[in-house]
Amino acid sequence: MRKSKRIKKDAKILKQFISIYCRENHLKKGVEEYKDGYCKECYDLLQYSLKRNENCPLDPKPQCKHCKVHCYAPKKRGKIKEIMRFSGIYMIKHGRLDMVFHYFF
Ligand code: SF4
Ligand SMILES: [Zn+2]
Repeated sequence: MRKSKRIKKDAKILKQFISIYCRENHLKKGVEEYKDGYCKECYDLLQYSLKRNENCPLDPKPQCKHCKVHCYAPKKRGKIKEIMRFSGIYMIKHGRLDMVFHYFF
């Protein structure tokens, strides 16, 4: 897959997974929306992850969960893993196995 195509595809996955997590855990529980359907914390994490995704030094890029470099700060990595787990399970429950297939953290 071409690098630019890969970046776009991974960005879409990040947006979807973080959006589900934020909606279910923050917005539905009264946390204020900050931008584009995300609270401030999730929006910032999304921007951080998109930047890492775009600037990944590995080509071809492995799935982040199989990566030996791990460019994420430990706290952010922990958070994104939690998000991927939550939204992955959410998608399985809602029949979106096609999306879970891409589960990359
Ligand atoms: S964790 Fe590894 S694969 Fe993922 S973006 Fe960072 S360097 Fe690339
Ligand atoms: Zn949120």
